[in-house]
Amino acid sequence: MAEGLEAFEGAGGASAALGGDAFFLTTLKTMVRWAERNSLWPATFGLACCAIEMMATAGLRFDISRFGAEVFRASPRQADLMIVSGRVSQKMAPVVRNVYDQMPHPKWVIAMGACASCGGIFDNYAIVQGVDRVVPVDVYVPGCPPTPDGLLYGIMKLQDKIRAGADRVFEERAV
Ligand code: SF4
Repeated sequence: MAEGLEAFEGAGGASAALGGDAFFLTTLKTMVRWAERNSLWPATFGLACCAIEMMATAGLRFDISRFGAEVFRASPRQADLMIVSGRVSQKMAPVVRNVYDQMPHPKWVIAMGACASCGGIFDNYAIVQGVDRVVPVDVYVPGCPPTPDGLLYGIMKLQDKIRAGADRVFEERAV
């Protein structure tokens, strides 16, 4: 209970102890954001070598479940986080956009690695020079390959963004 109260205090709520009992005060929006950022469900797909690093993030050593983001979903309709792990070819771009469109709002995107962020070493006609030309990106994770630690840091930055963000449920996001 004490841990839960600390979490809500961190989220902008307030708590007080009275004779062994405790209560907290908060807003519905704060509670919803607390739940959203601690239960990010990534869509299950990977595009290239970065995907191996993403898989390692879900393993025992790095344990993405510490951040509540371990529930990789096979259906985009059950996911609210797209981790673009690897280079995006021109052929794959419409598929990536299709997966994004099928995810329910609110949803977020992490561009993992140099290739997803800007094309990386593949400065050619076959590779999209940054996945933000296809879907809106919230967090960019640098590196080639980016480390699992880097992805975890990116998830933490996304959680910060959700904590501080505007009400995005009905927000139309420009692409
Ligand atoms: S950033 Fe590096 S590791 Fe990731 S997909 Fe590109 S070449 Fe592979």
